[in-house]
Amino acid sequence: MAPAVFKTVGCINSSGRFDSCLFRTMNELYASLPQVETLLQQDRIEVWFSRISRPVAVDVVRETLQLFRSRIESEQRAFSPEEIIEECVAALDAVYQRRLKPVINCTGVIIHTNLGRAPLSAKSWQEAGRLNTSYTNLEFDLSSGKRGKRSSFTTELLSRLCGSESALVVNNNAAAVFLILSTFARRKEVIVSRSELVQIGGGFRIPDILASSGAKLVEVGTTNITTIDDYLEAITDRTAVVLKVHRSNFALRGFTEEPSTRTLAAHLPPNILLVVDQGSGVLSSDIKGETPVSSHIRDGAHLVSFSADKALGSVQGGCIVGNGDLVAKLATHPLYRTMRVGKTVSSLLEASLIDHLNGVGTPALAFARRSVEELAAIGHTILGAVASSRLSLVEETMTLGGGSTPDESLPSLAIRLASAKPNRDAQVLRSREVPIITTVVKGAIHLNLGALAPEEAGTVISALKDLLEA
Ligand SMILES: *Cc1c(COP(=O)(O)O)cnc(C)c1O
Repeated sequence: MAPAVFKTVGCINSSGRFDSCLFRTMNELYASLPQVETLLQQDRIEVWFSRISRPVAVDVVRETLQLFRSRIESEQRAFSPEEIIEECVAALDAVYQRRLKPVINCTGVIIHTNLGRAPLSAKSWQEAGRLNTSYTNLEFDLSSGKRGKRSSFTTELLSRLCGSESALVVNNNAAAVFLILSTFARRKEVIVSRSELVQIGGGFRIPDILASSGAKLVEVGTTNITTIDDYLEAITDRTAVVLKVHRSNFALRGFTEEPSTRTLAAHLPPNILLVVDQGSGVLSSDIKGETPVSSHIRDGAHLVSFSADKALGSVQGGCIVGNGDLVAKLATHPLYRTMRVGKTVSSLLEASLIDHLNGVGTPALAFARRSVEELAAIGHTILGAVASSRLSLVEETMTLGGGSTPDESLPSLAIRLASAKPNRDAQVLRSREVPIITTVVKGAIHLNLGALAPEEAGTVISALKDLLEA
């Protein structure tokens, strides 16, 4: 068979340098592909080892080479080393995009579950850093020199903030609710209003959590009206808990009625536990539409659970506060052992709780409390630096998010970028080293300034300049 002659292209020789080669057979074409090891020695590929690990990078390079083998077969041509390296880098970058990285939140949702909920304060992160890179007295009583109670100071701080006798911390609020129901309502009945049988975010459905904890759901009332009598009439000798659930991501308006925690506490027989899944972890009374945890405790709830990484503004965790005997019972349930938190969560939560007690607030709450004037100053800095007629500053609203104040919005501003291809431009902003997450509004991109820190303005400026110059 007469040998086919293929185009001359560069190849990498055994010393890693580019050569010019001539290929005559398909076998030679395949053989012209660089070795995996040769590619791995290229600077442009080696830099990815620290970003995604060497073994993952090796797999990506192998898969890319396999792709070129198929392309040689279908296109019957040689590929230059530059082309191959370029393709490897694109594939490595695609993997890197899946790694956790900082993003800039221009969505106008301050506590955004998809964006990691609340940002922690840099100060608490630093403080916790010292603890996490050394041994700690996590479960060791320094005065007696004996084994101590895990995270006892964290729970002391929580109790103080919520006005409760006792507290317990687990991995998240879903775990907190599950632990409470498993401990106190297994094979018993739990009464929940039909207006509170909610689904929160990805897959937390109250009826499902109840069922998997072994409790039997007893629904009372209607979608819009549930009265105290509805609760009282549903009580049987199998009733263990009345569960009130924060609606979190929707609002009930119009002709509605529901008994407050105080009314329920006043009317329920003493052997029935009143449990509130407060959800958001709002601790102060200045957030419109939210009942702080301490109010539920003061009004007579036996146990209240909430997330630590929503409005409380700390690390992912689930807090339970309330009656001392009940909390002690939770802490000795075998399930608790599967949900307890380690030193990382405890140390970060402690730092946030101390900030709350000192009235320092959290970054998320600071965003929620910023004035439109402060946002306008950031907006004008960006507009001034980018100087483009396609940009303008427009009025918009922001929300606290994170399952709190579903019906309330706060005034905010957005940078509007007029665009013929807004979806594509939004994608360009997302694919930057520090991705910028925006919303697409008809014919424009909106960069809501509500959750933008002033020190992030420079990154936004560079991104907009690059986009507009492209
Ligand atoms: C958010 C939320 C949960 C789930 O909390 P996680 O910390 O995400 O597990 C449960 N109940 C309510 C009412 C919530 O708002």
